[in-house]
Amino acid sequence: MAPPKLYQNYDYDCSRASFITIPLGTAGGLDESNLSSFLLTKKGSNVFIALDAGTIWAGVSQFISSSSKCSRFFDITYPSWATTVDQKVAWFIRNHILGYFIGHSHLDHVQGLIESSPEDYLSSIAFDFKPPINNGLLQILRSLLSPAQQQQSNPSPTILQKKSIIGLPYTINAIQTHLFNNVIFPNLPSFGRYEYFTLDNTVKYNLIDLVTVNETQKSSMKGQFPNNIQITPFELCHNDIMSSAFLFQDMTTNEQIVFFSDTGVPSGNYNCDWKEKINVVWRNIKIDKLKAIFIESSFTSNTSDSQMYGHLRPKDVMALMEPLLMKSQQTIPRTTSLRHVKLIIEHIKPLANQFYSRLSLKQQIFKELTDNNPFNINVIIPQQGEPICI
Ligand SMILES: [Zn+2]
Ligand SMILES: [Zn+2]
Repeated sequence: MAPPKLYQNYDYDCSRASFITIPLGTAGGLDESNLSSFLLTKKGSNVFIALDAGTIWAGVSQFISSSSKCSRFFDITYPSWATTVDQKVAWFIRNHILGYFIGHSHLDHVQGLIESSPEDYLSSIAFDFKPPINNGLLQILRSLLSPAQQQQSNPSPTILQKKSIIGLPYTINAIQTHLFNNVIFPNLPSFGRYEYFTLDNTVKYNLIDLVTVNETQKSSMKGQFPNNIQITPFELCHNDIMSSAFLFQDMTTNEQIVFFSDTGVPSGNYNCDWKEKINVVWRNIKIDKLKAIFIESSFTSNTSDSQMYGHLRPKDVMALMEPLLMKSQQTIPRTTSLRHVKLIIEHIKPLANQFYSRLSLKQQIFKELTDNNPFNINVIIPQQGEPICI
């Protein structure tokens, strides 16, 4: 008997969605072409931020190769010279990814950024393409130029060519010291490719302040993504290192999305209370406005604590839902169901050894999550390159 298709619960009806995510990488190891990363944007925009960056190139390639999905959701125009998939991937990365939120410094969350970085640069020559391209970062850049500048060939705005790498101090220090350090990889940020933004734990930021534009340019971008989004970072425990969560809030609708990088049950004694760190995030959630939680479920529920190394199982994820309802900012009368929330499961660690179940690992994890789901949260196992409306 064929195993049941348990996790194909994708909803392509985006009519009521506010945000869209494109999973660029969904697994927690082994396959270097599918490591943790998600693009996020507001519906209607075609400019994205990346949430972790384990895999960039292969995920974008998977997404744009499925041209019907791509064109259904987004207005993407390629230069006339971009005829191969690789040329299109490079263009998409250059013109449509605004910056990178990195939750922690493990290689499976940063290696895509490092490896695509040589192509991750929007040259001012792009202003002179014929026919002109009027979407993505180029559209933002054009709207920021004065009429006189718009007439010039090659106006060379210094803005937005530098993309942002954003995170808490522990993460940014690790990337600076150990990755872009001219030993492991060329120090591209020092060559003007990237700008680091080091965030303070639990401080609220405007997303637009984390992009390299000046005050006048910011005011001219009012109303469009990435303006009008507030972001709050939170420290998380990840065995012996610090990880992070990022809470995004639309300042017009108050709708929220929370992204957790790796976190969970330690193997060993570390002075970090992982559950309490997550409770701090929950206290900042407006429960009726929460649209999605991105969180890991690396292993199946029968994995022992000694094998967890700072990760989560379905039983740990579901045990976080009651504290979410208890500690979040509640409605009157109280919200008691999570039916309105998408639970997007990241970082399922592939098993290369014999598996005990007739279900695939993804099906098994989906089953364990949905078998014990008292608050009816909408569990989604993402697929690389398949957009999810939020
Ligand atoms: Zn990790
Ligand atoms: Zn990881």
